[in-house]
Amino acid sequence: MKILLPVDGSSHALNAVRYVAERLWPRLDDTELVLLHVHYRVPPRAASAVGRTVVEGYYRSEAEAALKNAQKLLDQRGIAYTALRQPGYPGKVIPQYAESMKADLVVMGSHGLGAAKGLLLGSVTQAVIADCKTPLLVIRDGQLPPEKGEVLVAVDGSAYTRRAVAYLLRHRAQFAPRGRITLMHVSPSPGRLLTAVDRILEKERRADSERAMQPAKRLLDKVGVKYKALNVTGDPGERIASHARGNHAGLIVMGSHGRGSMTSLLLGSVTQKTLAAARAPVLIVR
Ligand code: ATP
Ligand code: MN
Repeated sequence: MKILLPVDGSSHALNAVRYVAERLWPRLDDTELVLLHVHYRVPPRAASAVGRTVVEGYYRSEAEAALKNAQKLLDQRGIAYTALRQPGYPGKVIPQYAESMKADLVVMGSHGLGAAKGLLLGSVTQAVIADCKTPLLVIRDGQLPPEKGEVLVAVDGSAYTRRAVAYLLRHRAQFAPRGRITLMHVSPSPGRLLTAVDRILEKERRADSERAMQPAKRLLDKVGVKYKALNVTGDPGERIASHARGNHAGLIVMGSHGRGSMTSLLLGSVTQKTLAAARAPVLIVR
């Protein structure tokens, strides 16, 4: 498995490195790890004023500072990696690099050194989500999730979920080593079921919810992987995140979009809400 770890020197990025070192690395055999720091270019006029040597020295010391704690963590654990720096816009360079190295996974912190802590995600992570074809694992700051936590797969019956489940199965030794997989489909809460029409709609909702589960179930059944299937009602993003919190999930797996109509969004609204509310790492597969 080839893993790209973009780092900016923040505690968030370091936590992403820690997740890879402690949770993925022990379960990987043939692995390539790349630490990447992307630094902005000094504008040409300023660069020519101070000279190339000064600019190069500046780039080097910036990158060293950003990479230092990640390198130290990997060195201490005897994990092999390549550390690189690239000039340009992080949100552009990271997806490009992931593609050029044919990465199987990009692992990033939810935030970075920036000050915008109120945001759902930092701007670099958002840009990578928008641009990157490679599956992306978003790690939050703070304690790593429990090792034995369940793997919660948000399912809506779309091609996106099918791809997410297929990816999870391909790498289940890393992401679901204990095989505790829960499929969850959330549909709107039933109304008050007062009229005959309400009851017909409710019956349809149930059937629809069952249908949404089918593709994921089929994939898991085919390879004989056990799972739990939950059909619940309510707001999808909230239900997924609250289930994950209540059950101390180790990982949430989602497609980048689902069956919603908001395809103009960077991410489906359920993925966005889940990212906002969940503590567990979120794996986004497109
Ligand atoms: P903003 O920069 O928008 O103020 P932020 O700093 O909180 O917000 P991001 O910059 O998106 O959040 O950082 C999120 C993650 O993106 C980091 O944990 C790290 O994995 C990666 N990252 C951020 N900047 C760089 C960079 N210059 N080079 C490599 N990776 C980066
Ligand atoms: Mn930043």
